[in-house]
Amino acid sequence: GATIELENLTKRYPGHPEPAVDNVSMEIRAGETVIFVGPSGCGKSTTLKMINRLIEPTGGRIRIDGEDVTRIDPVRLRRKIGYAIQSSGLFPHLTVAQNIALVPRMTGWSKPRVRDRVEEMLDLVGLDPGDFHGRYPRQLSGGQQQRVGVARALAADPPVLLMDEPFGAVDPITRDHLQDELIRLQRELHKTIVFVTHDFDEAIKLGDRIAVLRERSHIAQFDTPEAILTN
Ligand code: ADP
Ligand code: ADP
Repeated sequence: GATIELENLTKRYPGHPEPAVDNVSMEIRAGETVIFVGPSGCGKSTTLKMINRLIEPTGGRIRIDGEDVTRIDPVRLRRKIGYAIQSSGLFPHLTVAQNIALVPRMTGWSKPRVRDRVEEMLDLVGLDPGDFHGRYPRQLSGGQQQRVGVARALAADPPVLLMDEPFGAVDPITRDHLQDELIRLQRELHKTIVFVTHDFDEAIKLGDRIAVLRERSHIAQFDTPEAILTN
């Protein structure tokens, strides 16, 4: 895992008087799973996108293992951070296998290693590789697309996972399995995970700590599930 430090992080979208994220500071420890919960529109996705550099903050800074993210080149950042989102974000013109292979290929893995890894990742998310690897995203259900999105996020074995409601459309049995896989990745590989969910049971099950956010991502509470439940 890796530590993630947010220092006075702020984002103002052009044309919006109110910041979406206002002066947020937080430290996420290496190997820790932190859950973001909070009302829709409070800036959870914006925060994850800034950590991942899909959007630039308008103020403050982000450090991963002490290194300012603006100093990490794009390929190295993709290797460091796996990103899975509610809408899957799959590239529609690439097959399932090509989508999953993207970051490992960028990283320079050999073809056989990439092929094995794609298969392993499809197995992990419970999709039969023979059936699914050549399909295009539009040929999958919403839940299957999300599962491929999770497979893609994990493919290059990044130390950091940013997951924005990644299991929202997944059926309950598969979701349970994926939650268990995530716990295993955390325990065995010490991934640092930031996970957004509206599902309180999921938050309790997965979180080492839960950050309860209010408008503009102000932190109302940041504590263990036990402490949050007793407050
Ligand atoms: P959450 O993930 O907690 O639902 P978001 O980060 O998506 O919240 O959004 C935070 C705020 O920023 C909302 O008010 C939203 O409307 C606004 N917002 C999000 N993306 C954009 C954008 N690209 N341009 C302008 N405003 C945005
Ligand atoms: P571009 O240079 O075209 O903006 P990006 O690398 O910024 O490409 O990301 C393009 C898309 O890839 C994003 O919309 C997102 O869905 C997906 N993506 C972003 N970060 C990652 C990641 N770390 N791992 C896998 N997919 C990612």
